[in-house]
Amino acid sequence: MPIATVNPANGETLKTYEPMDEDELERRLELAEATFRTYRTTSFAERARLLDKAAELLDEDQREIGRVVTTEMGKPVRQARAEAAKCAKAMRWYAEHAERLLADEEPAESDVRDSGASRVRVRYRPLGPVLAVMPWNFPLWQVVRFAAPALMAGNVGLLKHASNVPQTALYLEDLFHRAGFPEGCFQTLLIGSGAVDDILRDERVRAATLTGSEPAGRAVASTAGEMIKKTVLELGGSDPYIVMPSADLDRAAEVAVTARVQNNGQSCIAAKRFIVHTDVYEAFAEKFVAGMRALKVGDPLAEDTEVGPVASERGRADLEELVDDARRGGARVLCGGERPDGPGWYYPPTVLSGITREMRVHREEAFGPVATLYRADDVDEAVLIANDSPFGLSSNVWTRDEAEVERFTRDLEAGSVYVNGMTASHPAFPFGGVKRSGYGRELSGHGIREFCNITTVWQG
Ligand code: NAP
Repeated sequence: MPIATVNPANGETLKTYEPMDEDELERRLELAEATFRTYRTTSFAERARLLDKAAELLDEDQREIGRVVTTEMGKPVRQARAEAAKCAKAMRWYAEHAERLLADEEPAESDVRDSGASRVRVRYRPLGPVLAVMPWNFPLWQVVRFAAPALMAGNVGLLKHASNVPQTALYLEDLFHRAGFPEGCFQTLLIGSGAVDDILRDERVRAATLTGSEPAGRAVASTAGEMIKKTVLELGGSDPYIVMPSADLDRAAEVAVTARVQNNGQSCIAAKRFIVHTDVYEAFAEKFVAGMRALKVGDPLAEDTEVGPVASERGRADLEELVDDARRGGARVLCGGERPDGPGWYYPPTVLSGITREMRVHREEAFGPVATLYRADDVDEAVLIANDSPFGLSSNVWTRDEAEVERFTRDLEAGSVYVNGMTASHPAFPFGGVKRSGYGRELSGHGIREFCNITTVWQG
């Protein structure tokens, strides 16, 4: 895959980049290691000052970088600006809270005495250069979600971004430099995925985080395993969205539309499988399909566009194959399902019903605006369908019945359960999945501690 900006709205190649050669990569790895040696000793106050500055610059750049993001991967430009704003918020959050989250911990006095010590502390120390392999779908947010806590912990970052968002990748390096971070604290490596393995094997790289597909996660995790390096994996998802009879149906259907088509449907935590209690199935389906039909699809740079093109030609072809497979297996297409004529990789908001276990769309992730509808007779069946997936990222439940909330919270196999709302990450809450959605957590105190050397200091 070439490293290039190709506009998904018309297929035009706007800019191509040569991958960095071996000498340049060596220079950058050396710089990362050298920078870490001194950066690790800086104070939280100093790191916070720099990160706050990066947030300020990002706010100033919002319009400009929003257009770049939209041109590279096709999300509606208002959503691109909102993504930039969310990144600035996360930077400020970590600037404010990192010192508290990484404060020394003192075990219980009885345990300290029992160990024969006069004092014991648990200290969170940084690990070193961390490689971040990131996807294009939230090209600012995925990176900042890693970089803000990593930099506050005293680590330095090496970014291998997706090959279709090189301008965003270079912008991020520039942003951290302009904010005043020492050169080498955050560097972008312009490389294809084939070059990741060698970087990961380099002794100077201490750990890796990958957000992306299952095959990419498997490749990085197996090399990291061989090298005994810590990894965090944020992989795919096919989140359930369960609607029970006590739900506010109008609201549930309205939010369902946003939850499915946000980011042109290309979000790991988008709701993808809509599991509706049979008593309210028809009413919900009618409202949901009407909402999906009413969406304004078009030029992602237009302010009123709600759904733009899918990010790549391959991505659209994957969606078409999933829908065609379901259609052949007997699924009903309630809306959408046909690619429009004309330039760009557009695909219409689509709703499928009559899904069976044999259909690919039941077990694979639909990375675009394609929703599947299921009918459930009770809580047990809803849980069964929801958990009948290789993924376990997030989940959504609509009910006003507290006993049902408890059941779903106990039984859904997912890294989060959002009740009467759609999944949205927040810097203060842990984010991540189970099963083939990956492992480890980002955000919150859990996220910042993932890439720390948790050190026991025992004093006699
Ligand atoms: P992808 O193909 O896996 O790409 C993600 C990143 O991994 C890119 O930088 C890519 O580089 C790199 N990569 C691909 N194959 C690799 C390999 N064998 N070794 C090393 N690096 C490799 O993913 P995508 O299709 O662009 O992104 C969509 C996927 O990401 C979906 O499954 C989505 O659910 C998931 N995702 C998960 C989260 C989460 O937080 N759990 C968030 C967003 C997206 P190139 O671009 O150069 O190929």
